[in-house]
Amino acid sequence: MIKGIPQVGHRQLLSQIRQIMADEGNAQERLDGLVAAIARNLQAQVCSLYLRRPDASMELWATYGLASSAVHVTRLGAGEGLVGEIVRLAKPLNLTEAPKHPEFSFHPETQEDPFHGFLGVPVLRGGRLLGVLVVQSREARHYSDEDMEALQNVSMVLAEIVSSGDLLSPNELENVALRPMRAEVLSGRRISDGLAVGRAVLDMPGRVNTNPVADDPEAEKQRLISAISELRRSVDALYQGKGNRLGGPSREVLEAYRMFANDQGWMDRLVEAASAGLSAEAAVERVRGEHRARFRNAKNPYLRERLHDLEDLANRLLRHLGAIEDLASLPKDAVLIARDIGPAGLLELDRSRLKALVLEEGSPTSHAAIVARALRLPVVGQVAGVLDRVSEGDTVLLDGESGSVFIRPDGDVEAAFRARVAERRARRAAYARLRDKPACTRDGQRIKLSMNAGLRVDLPQLEESGAEGIGLFRTEFQFLLSDHLPKQNEQTRLYHDVLDAAGDRPVVFRTLDLGGDKVLPYVAHERESNPALGWRAMRMALDRPGLLRYQFRALIDATAGKELNIMFPLITTLGEFRSAKALLEAEIGRMKRFGKNVPQSVRIGSMIETPAIVWQLDELLHEVDFVSVGANDLMQYFFAADRENPRVSERYDILNTGSLRMLGHVAKLCNQAACPVSVCGEIAGQTVEAAILIALGFTELSVPPAAIGPVKRMILSLDQNDLGINLAQWLAKESLAKAGAEAIVSIREQFLNYAQTNGLPL
Ligand code: PEP
Ligand code: MG
Repeated sequence: MIKGIPQVGHRQLLSQIRQIMADEGNAQERLDGLVAAIARNLQAQVCSLYLRRPDASMELWATYGLASSAVHVTRLGAGEGLVGEIVRLAKPLNLTEAPKHPEFSFHPETQEDPFHGFLGVPVLRGGRLLGVLVVQSREARHYSDEDMEALQNVSMVLAEIVSSGDLLSPNELENVALRPMRAEVLSGRRISDGLAVGRAVLDMPGRVNTNPVADDPEAEKQRLISAISELRRSVDALYQGKGNRLGGPSREVLEAYRMFANDQGWMDRLVEAASAGLSAEAAVERVRGEHRARFRNAKNPYLRERLHDLEDLANRLLRHLGAIEDLASLPKDAVLIARDIGPAGLLELDRSRLKALVLEEGSPTSHAAIVARALRLPVVGQVAGVLDRVSEGDTVLLDGESGSVFIRPDGDVEAAFRARVAERRARRAAYARLRDKPACTRDGQRIKLSMNAGLRVDLPQLEESGAEGIGLFRTEFQFLLSDHLPKQNEQTRLYHDVLDAAGDRPVVFRTLDLGGDKVLPYVAHERESNPALGWRAMRMALDRPGLLRYQFRALIDATAGKELNIMFPLITTLGEFRSAKALLEAEIGRMKRFGKNVPQSVRIGSMIETPAIVWQLDELLHEVDFVSVGANDLMQYFFAADRENPRVSERYDILNTGSLRMLGHVAKLCNQAACPVSVCGEIAGQTVEAAILIALGFTELSVPPAAIGPVKRMILSLDQNDLGINLAQWLAKESLAKAGAEAIVSIREQFLNYAQTNGLPL
């Protein structure tokens, strides 16, 4: 039995509102009609609508009962009065004696002094507060739960109407925070480079606003109840492991889903909203909006996580209601707008129709980001509030170079953007012409340019980019994208495919680099307080060598009769390298004993990713066949700044004199020992940093495939020797002593001046 189902009178209110909205007449007249209908229905003497202005003040937009001369005149400052209190709490306020409330503020022009009973509710859309709807009564009165329910439902409908742009034209909304038809530019973080023009597809329902009021509330309630039952069944099935698709939610998340899906309070709120006359979809949206508004600013990460669960659950419910189309059938030129997306979800989308992705969350080092880059899909992340500001079908221009997203752009902006797209295409064509040209500096230094890879989708890039090999194959990606531990033969098959695609070009396989942020959803793990400094990569592999042994077998099998190039991640001591090498040799010995084919030759390398191993290089270089500098991690540990944490990850310039000295030390020792060395972190693919690395003496770079063209173009104009001499001067103690503090921190400015004077294309 569901409590508090409102009377039929409240239901009729929603139909009346629909009628008023469909009437002829200007927007103000219709809003006036609307507040009058609400006041009548709730037997209140006053009903007022306040809308939020961009400066966060609340403007009286329509009223029944207060002085009409106060409309568009009365403005409450941010946080002022009872309306301000509702904005702050993002929840209803029901007061028998409003003037006694400490936040009560009196505006004489409204002539509201005689009113005592007060009920106000926020007007929310997608968790964003658009306004406040208030009813007041002359006598001291406590509005009933049913009244409150009714007012919240009306405010939900009102939010949809206001934001749809049907009621108020862009001019009328000029001074309101929500101007849905207006061009907007939002900024976020660059996640995957590229420019795109397309139409918005929301990874949440955009169709609710077409008809938020049910034609037949009883039927709507039944439709919602049966969708909830289906949802519960499907969550149970997921939990029991049936139909758990690739990369689906982890068990922990499923536990939370199950708990919420069976939560009576959630169900009651949904059904109450539908019983009151909202469509089933609008009921889901209403409850979701309330949760969002309440949890969004929660400091507690646990609560914020629960909001994600509730959002996902609401989306699932809308799918059961048929309100969200399957994203597999994207329209042409789609720009998908989503809260976040996992790597597996991304791979399921139709790349021929998907032009770009905008995320409210998302991090540049996440696995989805890596997959997006492999797919060459432009992505901008951390765009706050984008889901609330974009409507399905809006034109979107996405600039993955600067991290900007243009919504509903003006004609001029779109034309200028399309010109940039054309220019970029021309640049790419120019890079393609360099494909077969060897990367050689002007003074004759040959630079080997390889690419980083980790997925099958990367492999065609070998041909297209002109890479000379794969300098880093991240084997853990197969594990991260799978919903189960890949079997030995599945691993072997992938490595075979990689070697087939590479042909004569060398491939360096890096053994599993798990732990830290790379957690397998299907393997239980203990939370660590500092995962980047924790039980990861080789530490994990040496403590539990079973997984590593299987991987060695797969690699030995796939490279039988050929050359196996293998390297170990996150080596911190010589002992770790020796132990890993001994394990590999033991596996090769074992395979031989079983009469299996083994690689014709084996080259074993170490990654240089910890400052600790940099200071043991002298010894390490006697034992390795090659090394590769994993600059992403090396810099994270050098600066003690988490590469995953946007607050600190870009805080220190890699062209800092300290880090350059360390990198120079690595290049010098390797060159002296004639030990092949490459750099494979992201910096190797950035033209400025790549030039400096070459000047330091590195002659091999392994970079993301899209970086090969730009880096090669820079190399062809570079004089390694000359830049090397200049760099040595910039780093010399005497010049640092003379330079200002800024120059000591980084040599970037000196280099950029040098590049400009010497016409170095960056
Ligand atoms: C690195 O740390 O620079 C590296 C190449 O490895 P990953 O980015 O996979 O940690
Ligand atoms: Mg690394």
